[in-house]
Amino acid sequence: MSATSGISRRTEGRSWVSTLFSYASRCKGKMVLSVIASIASVAAGFVPFYAVYRLMEMAIVGSLTWDGALVWIAVAAIAYVLSKVLFGASTLLSHVSAYAILESLRKDFVSKLMRASLGTVQSKSIGSIKTVFIDRIENIEPPLAHMIPELGGSLILAVGLAGWLVSIDWRMALACLICVPLGLAVFASSLKEFNAKYAAFMAESAHVNSVIVEYIEGIQVVKAFNQASDSYEKYANAVKAFKDFTMEWFKSTWVTMNLMSSIMPTTLLGVLPVGLALYLGGALFPADLAMCVVLALAIVDPIARFTSFVNELKSMEYAVADAAEFLDLPELPEADRRATEVKDSSVELKDVRFSYGEGEEVLHGVSLSMPSGSFTALVGPSGSGKSTLARLLVRHWDVDDGSIAIGGVDVRDMPLEQLSGLVSFVAQDNYLFDASIRENIRLGNPAASDGDVEAAARAACCDDFVSRLPQGLDTPAGSAGLELSGGERQRVSIARAILKDAPIVVLDEATAFTDPESEDKIQRSIARLSAGKTLLVIAHRLSTIVGADRIAVIEGGRVIATGKHDELLSVCPLYSRMWDAHVGARAWAAGSSGEGSTR
Ligand code: ADP
Repeated sequence: MSATSGISRRTEGRSWVSTLFSYASRCKGKMVLSVIASIASVAAGFVPFYAVYRLMEMAIVGSLTWDGALVWIAVAAIAYVLSKVLFGASTLLSHVSAYAILESLRKDFVSKLMRASLGTVQSKSIGSIKTVFIDRIENIEPPLAHMIPELGGSLILAVGLAGWLVSIDWRMALACLICVPLGLAVFASSLKEFNAKYAAFMAESAHVNSVIVEYIEGIQVVKAFNQASDSYEKYANAVKAFKDFTMEWFKSTWVTMNLMSSIMPTTLLGVLPVGLALYLGGALFPADLAMCVVLALAIVDPIARFTSFVNELKSMEYAVADAAEFLDLPELPEADRRATEVKDSSVELKDVRFSYGEGEEVLHGVSLSMPSGSFTALVGPSGSGKSTLARLLVRHWDVDDGSIAIGGVDVRDMPLEQLSGLVSFVAQDNYLFDASIRENIRLGNPAASDGDVEAAARAACCDDFVSRLPQGLDTPAGSAGLELSGGERQRVSIARAILKDAPIVVLDEATAFTDPESEDKIQRSIARLSAGKTLLVIAHRLSTIVGADRIAVIEGGRVIATGKHDELLSVCPLYSRMWDAHVGARAWAAGSSGEGSTR
């Protein structure tokens, strides 16, 4: 997180305040009503004070009767209840608005994740994304829900009470408020370094957050290799640095904060001696003296509340500015949001060049034609650019040069939703969401019936392991996911893709050798998934692609040969070497597991 000190944070030329207002304006009506209710609540809150004043006045001049007293007590009670009801209405409206703002921020975040390139999203650490998504956005709620209505109320209450004091006797007002500038001066001195300290605090907090997330994500590796050393040390150091910083900041403000909170409420220190002197000198009525004492006590709370908002304001500034930084991430350009009709499901790559960010070029002019309904395989050594090519097809990134077209339409000229409907991408690392296996499969087509989901699961050969699970397809994938093998998880993703039924299927084959039975099931499920479709397979096990219509051999980001299996064996030495290595590895794997044949 970038920390700025001493200045208001800005993103993309917008201040955090304008970002906040752009969201707040979506529920402007409720926010305005909330402020009005808060002000009305404060106004009603004055009435009991006035009633007390009238009662004291009547008591002192000797005109107090039961009837008169009851009227003022009733007025005070009704006004008190009204003030509380209005305050309740104000906070209800402000909470409804605050949570509506939080909801739209979070929705915009997810839509940003969908529309930004994968590279842009991956340039942020998971820790920082989590901090903004959860913590920072949560930080916006208390100030929005409390500060906006209460700030106005407190300000009006403090000014109103001070004005009342002035109307009784300006000297009493001065005597009452003498300690306020003193307290505020002490408070201001504690704010001298506040901006810089707050920026440093947020940076420390973001750092400790991302170290904790990194540590938890890498816990398997830490346990296996690194138990007591580097990783843990980095974690422990970050936690300790955060604690040390917070304690040091707390200690440096401890004296001033206590001094301020001691000085600020001592309004009686001036009011009592000055009031008594004026009363004894005959310049102040006893009822007015009593009223000044009541007002002097009442003014303390709104002023103190006012100072507590400084912290909340700062926390909101950071929360909104961090959120805005995320919301301003660049999106993949979408030329036209209307779907463009594609003529078929052919895929055409023309002279595609690509590099990750500022890094070296990893694809150097790749051209490849995949006719509609054909089966194409990409093979090549690790790091040659196969996965990159597949990901460019689904626009995880955009090509730097050249083009990728589906059915004659450049993928950059179609809306992302249309592209997503045209291509099913089955990746290697198949992520299962924390929902039932049924719902994980249904993600392929949210409108699918239970029967369709079950048919897709059967087609993807999921029956055997699903029948082992306690609740079958309804078993939560969170717990089942841990029990499923890589091959089984891949079959769940294939079932998802079968349900999606997109005309183009891109499959990043699992690298690890699975047992022959599981491999056979994966092959059968892939055959069902790709029947009649344009299929692109990133092949790691060459035996699975011998039947491909076309195999493209990629080396160092270039297509060095294309052809069918038998042709490539004779014309492409790299392919032939890879094939020999594959056959050898399979023979070894089969031998070590007691199996006989390699094919
Ligand atoms: P393959 O799938 O053939 O193993 P990749 O397409 O994954 O190869 O990688 C091609 C090159 O791009 C490699 O040099 C790899 O290090 C690099 N690369 C892959 N992903 C990224 C990324 N997210 N950021 C930067 N470089 C990457």
